[in-house]
Amino acid sequence: MKVYIDGEFYDRSEARISVFDHGLLYGDGVFEGIRIYGGKIFRLREHLDRLYDSAKSILLDIPMSKPDMEKAVSDTVQINERNEGYIRLIVTRGAGELGLDPGQCARPTVIIIAGDIQLYPPEYYDKGIAVVTASSRRMPSDSLDPRIKSLNYLNNVMAKIEAGQAGCLEAVMLNHEGYVSECTADNIFLVRSGKIATPAVNCGALGGITRSAVIELAGSLGIEVREAQLTRYDLYTADECFMTGTGAEIVPVVKIDGRGIGEGQPGPMTKRLAEEFRKLAGRQQ
Ligand code: PMP
Repeated sequence: MKVYIDGEFYDRSEARISVFDHGLLYGDGVFEGIRIYGGKIFRLREHLDRLYDSAKSILLDIPMSKPDMEKAVSDTVQINERNEGYIRLIVTRGAGELGLDPGQCARPTVIIIAGDIQLYPPEYYDKGIAVVTASSRRMPSDSLDPRIKSLNYLNNVMAKIEAGQAGCLEAVMLNHEGYVSECTADNIFLVRSGKIATPAVNCGALGGITRSAVIELAGSLGIEVREAQLTRYDLYTADECFMTGTGAEIVPVVKIDGRGIGEGQPGPMTKRLAEEFRKLAGRQQ
């Protein structure tokens, strides 16, 4: 594997950054997770828009233009001869001093890794997963807007640990007001009476690229989608529930906090959207 760091490619064992990088010292940086399907990079423009928006909002000047970044990502995929896989694109504040001041960091570090990802074992796509609500909440937007895909994932990591402690693979996270925001690394959707709803981004959800794709797909199938303030009650009483994310794609959720959702198995709308998503992504069944 060849890893891109600041314009050069390094063997995996040689790919290193400074221990004074503020990405490591303070989680000061932003990132993206992107999929490669059949040699094509899925929705790269949208990922780059989100990356540059995240960077802008934390006053991080990415030291390359979007077209140059697009090329760097494609080059990394090509040099690794990747036809399927996952890209991790990271921009940190760069190496500086032992102090918060980003002004001490000379230049942001750009890292691109093209590798594999498998988030959930295949059987969960057929039978669905059980999730619990975590006590760790999403960050309020007046602290750090959860739309920023930053290197600060600690409360999501805490929620993921809580999921594991409850014997589940994922957790639902609420915002500071108690409304549902998303899962630890995936957006969440529910289906009720043939209509779809998902938490609005101002409820603490990341503007997921898969989330947008699913909203578009539903629209093209004539299915109504509402972006709303949802509570756990809405989840518990849904006919179907599913999660979406770049790595996970569409995963049926069949149990939440011990309550079976709908029939307790993946529902027809979830299956239909998962099938349409696979087509959109150009994936073979
Ligand atoms: N929420 C969070 C917190 C995430 O980290 C992610 C990305 N894994 C998502 C939702 C899903 O977003 P996307 O569809 O763009 O991968």
